[in-house]
Amino acid sequence: MRKKVQTFFRRIVDSGESVRAKIFILLTIIGMFSLILALIADIFLHENMGEISALLVTVLVAPLITYLAVKKNRIQLGASIMSVLVVGFVVPLVFCFGGGLTGGGVIWFVFAYLYIGIILVGTFRIVMMTLLTILIFALYIASFFVPELIVSHERFGWYLDSGVSILLVGFSVYYMVRTQYRLYVEESEKAKLQAKKIEEMNRAQSRFFSSMSHEIRTPINTIIGLNEMILRADVSEDVAENAANIQSASKILLSLINDILDMSKMESGKMEIVKVQYDVGKMLSEIVNMTWIKADEKGLKFSVYVDPSMPSQLFSDEVRIKQILLNLLNNAVKYTKEGSISLSVHCVKTDAGKAIVTYSVEDTGIGIRKESIPHLFDAFRREDNEKNRYIEGTGLGLSIVKQLVDLLGGTISVNSVYTKGSTFVVSLEQEIADEKMMGEFGMRKLGQALDKPKYNRSFEAPEARILVVDDNATNLLVVKKLLKETKVIIDTAENASKCLNMTLQNRYNMIFMDHLMPGMDGIECLHALRDQAGGLCKDAPVVALTANAGSENQALYRREGFDEYLVKPIDSSELERTVLKLLPENLVTVIDNVDENFEPETIIREMRTKIPILITTDSTADLPAELLSKLNIPIVPYKVRMNEGVFYDGIETGNSAIIRSLEDGSVVAGSEEPTVQEYENFFSEQLTYAQHIIHISMGKHISKGYENACEAALAFYNVKVFDSGQLSSGTGLLVLYAKELAESGQYDPEMIVRELLKKQEKIKTSFVISTTDYLYRSGHLSSFINKLCNALMFHPVLITRNSYMKVYRLWAGGIERIKPKYIQSLFRNPSDIDKSILFITYAGIKLSEAEKIRDEVSRFIGFDRVYIQKASPSIAINCGIGSFGLIFARK
Ligand code: ADP
Repeated sequence: MRKKVQTFFRRIVDSGESVRAKIFILLTIIGMFSLILALIADIFLHENMGEISALLVTVLVAPLITYLAVKKNRIQLGASIMSVLVVGFVVPLVFCFGGGLTGGGVIWFVFAYLYIGIILVGTFRIVMMTLLTILIFALYIASFFVPELIVSHERFGWYLDSGVSILLVGFSVYYMVRTQYRLYVEESEKAKLQAKKIEEMNRAQSRFFSSMSHEIRTPINTIIGLNEMILRADVSEDVAENAANIQSASKILLSLINDILDMSKMESGKMEIVKVQYDVGKMLSEIVNMTWIKADEKGLKFSVYVDPSMPSQLFSDEVRIKQILLNLLNNAVKYTKEGSISLSVHCVKTDAGKAIVTYSVEDTGIGIRKESIPHLFDAFRREDNEKNRYIEGTGLGLSIVKQLVDLLGGTISVNSVYTKGSTFVVSLEQEIADEKMMGEFGMRKLGQALDKPKYNRSFEAPEARILVVDDNATNLLVVKKLLKETKVIIDTAENASKCLNMTLQNRYNMIFMDHLMPGMDGIECLHALRDQAGGLCKDAPVVALTANAGSENQALYRREGFDEYLVKPIDSSELERTVLKLLPENLVTVIDNVDENFEPETIIREMRTKIPILITTDSTADLPAELLSKLNIPIVPYKVRMNEGVFYDGIETGNSAIIRSLEDGSVVAGSEEPTVQEYENFFSEQLTYAQHIIHISMGKHISKGYENACEAALAFYNVKVFDSGQLSSGTGLLVLYAKELAESGQYDPEMIVRELLKKQEKIKTSFVISTTDYLYRSGHLSSFINKLCNALMFHPVLITRNSYMKVYRLWAGGIERIKPKYIQSLFRNPSDIDKSILFITYAGIKLSEAEKIRDEVSRFIGFDRVYIQKASPSIAINCGIGSFGLIFARK
């Protein structure tokens, strides 16, 4: 029996059902089982027919509901029906017919709580538990006040009923909890097993990738190496073209393999960062060397700027930094048809002897859509549009770049304007290994790398003798052929023991050693060589020659005592450079003198200093034009719609023209904020002069400008849009304050924004409106209020609060009488006012009147600077002629 129950349990546990369905089935079975036993006991005891029928109905209906719920996969519905059945039917009937408090019904309450509590989820569980509680209360109260509702039992009957109920409920509660627990254990074991399987699969996968990469490198080595021999030979144009194509295809294949290997390493968490001391100038030269030819071939200008104060030696993972920059530069070339690409490197030293180095890669290419930017660093994600459909790529590059930057503890961000170009900025903190400044960046010509395809050997060493150890015969052939022109004498050994034999007989000037070989591997062979009794090459330089790429391998080979490290497929110029470096000088005749400073024509070094933070705003900030130009605050114009068409605020139409139009009633639709596109163009233009922009916009509930600017800013990591919460010169006042902060050497945009938030609360912007007609026209007031104000000669005072424009109070009477009252109300208590700046911003009043207002103000308070400023057309349209505002800050 026990075995059968166990088998039954297992079948349910192993069924493909969800955990919830399994709990539901098992608990219902346990519940039904105890109800059937209760039913049998009731029949046997000749219990009340009401109770017997209630149990019978439940025992028949409940399995049916459970079956249908599981079959139709409607577990939640089934559980809900069951719980309604329990609360609405089983519990009250069993209580009333089962003898009330003196029967077994009370004990079934416990069962009901447990059953509902486990099978239901969410709000419905709370609802049903509450209903059950209310029901129990009601039953208790009813049995107290209306005892005749309860069918009473004889003394023996209620003892027996209660006893049987205790046993049944007790056991079923035990089984329910036990089942739940077993299910939990089973499921968690299953999950553990699955996790282990996945881990195993991941391990197998990364093993596979790593061995695949290793295996593929070996034939590519042959292809690239032997193909290079064809390129070097005097062959027909046709053959040369084919060979060039083979070369570029093999390089693509190689970079693909590198990407896949890197991805698999990252996924298995095996990507290691190996920090070494490196020469910054040399590294950057290498990068530029590898990119400029590609840019040149596409007719692109290539500019490089390196901060002269950059330390000459840094300590970080040189290999990975190179990989990051090459990836970004290659993308820049790949996605740019015309124009230019540039690499600029800046450096800020920190107190802790470190440097934060910022590398920017900028291009004038196809750009990236705003909506694609958030997914740009996801693996396998390529922007799918007509423009890049035919540009080869896998979508792995940027994902690898991002993960490498993360591993190096840095940041990467992108600015891009679709169709205009992109800028990728990587910031990495690195230790300074040598404080000496790099000075002017001079490209170093590195061996043959800069020479266009035609090969020229860089040295000759006919008396030098080299041993190459590799188990793969073609690899040996490739090295031999690649070094043929240098006339070096080359011996080969296809395994470690042969190598050790040869080093007993010959003195080699250097040895190339493969790592993975059957029998003794390269590292073991190196150790044997160094300790070889009677060996003639104990001190000879040994270069590891390996198909295992990655900076962790570089560290391994250095640790083991190799003098250099070359990755297969072997780069011919790298190979020659290494041989030249390690051979004794007296054996070598250098043929092509290496220029220390070499400047290819396409590379233009330019010193472009961008200001750290630029403050920009909208034309509606109502700042004097002289101030805007003196302080270098660029503005985005709002537009004014007039009968004659749409005009740019302040550029195409002046304030007086608007006032004239307002007076003759010809303004049609009012003002319009800049579009997202206009903001985007504005930001991208301004970013050529600045590293960061803080754009201060008019209150977000007053105009849609803020929303548009925010949307445009999504395309730039270094544009922040700040809601001034104000209008007109209130925004302007905040702009002046932001400018002051930015000029004071506060270069952290976040910090400036925090300060602005504090200042914002202190700005007091208010306008007295001479007539409400304009507000009504621009949709800020209802027709009723407008009519009322006109009839009663009410003049509203507008203020800004929480980015909304609000009517603060209504003054009755002529505007001339109101002016002094308004001024007095503002400056009655001058002690808490910041006396540095006051704006008197007006629309459609004479300058002399504005000056009178200034004089009136000066009776109460003296400001250091008072700007009498005509409101911009957009503001004038909304406030109307005869309006003026007094704008200042509180302390
Ligand atoms: P791949 O270039 O192999 O497609 P990446 O991960 O390097 O993969 O880039 C992902 C996508 O990002 C590219 O498909 C391209 O749409 C976009 N992208 C990357 N760099 C640039 C760039 N400089 N200009 C425009 N689009 C770019």
